[in-house]
Amino acid sequence: MKACALSILLLLLVSCGDRKATEPPPPAVSLAVDPAAAFSHAQAMIDFGARHSDSPGATRTVDYLVSTSKMLGIQASIDQWQEGETTYRNVHAQTPGHGDRYVILASHYDTKLLHSVPNFVGANDSASSSGLLLELLRVISSAENWGGPPMRFVWFDGEECRVRYGEHDGLHGSKRMASTLEASGELESCRAMILLDMIGDKDLTITFPSNCDSKLLAQIFKTAEAQGVASHFGFFSGRRILDDHVPFFERGVPALDIIDFSYGPNNSFWHTSEDTLDKISPDSMAIVGNVVLAFLQELIPRE
Ligand SMILES: [Zn+2]
Repeated sequence: MKACALSILLLLLVSCGDRKATEPPPPAVSLAVDPAAAFSHAQAMIDFGARHSDSPGATRTVDYLVSTSKMLGIQASIDQWQEGETTYRNVHAQTPGHGDRYVILASHYDTKLLHSVPNFVGANDSASSSGLLLELLRVISSAENWGGPPMRFVWFDGEECRVRYGEHDGLHGSKRMASTLEASGELESCRAMILLDMIGDKDLTITFPSNCDSKLLAQIFKTAEAQGVASHFGFFSGRRILDDHVPFFERGVPALDIIDFSYGPNNSFWHTSEDTLDKISPDSMAIVGNVVLAFLQELIPRE
């Protein structure tokens, strides 16, 4: 009888130990973005006019990002630097979370300087992703029980190239952040880099490029499936895309570029006067935002 009780006790102890070792992460808290809020942020940025680097519209956008963050109780910071004649500014905000590895959630806020379209306001590219990022900051910072990792939000300046992507043209803000984090040693604690770009198209078709982390890709498809929105997520025919995730991906950070590079027939709305507010929708922004919220909370801290 005694031996039997001891066996049961041992069995219980062993099984408890096993359970602890393989304990699943806490279930994702159901959070949702407010589609109207995300859309109104995008609208505000469009109303500031062209936002190419060092323009009055870029300054107004930076002020808007900082003041809106402040209303949420978040002290955003500006990283400002000079390259040649141009002043660039990234905007950063942070929120706490579980574990010791943070996730970067990013969007660029600058618009392409188009001489053929003097007041190119970039509704989809890049007001949609910048507006959604601001709404995601609100949801995550005000969540009573955020189940995801510590977050570093960043709005990049200078994603767009002036002439042709190269060492000194394009991806200015993301190159700056990746190299700064690498130099300080902080890049090693980065669990993942998730980029939002052109996510507001009414006809939402996310086209993941081939230069994305395969495990993160598999996970986000699973999340989209669970939310019943998998039909909006696909691949960019196995091709690469040069975007702000690249400076991180090249340094070994698992990265995802959540981009819809099928904007209008044959992507014909991209970098043209067609990229206007009427082409984007709050619903598309919410689909992406809600997938990202669940995805982040389901992310295994160490992989
Ligand atoms: Zn662009």
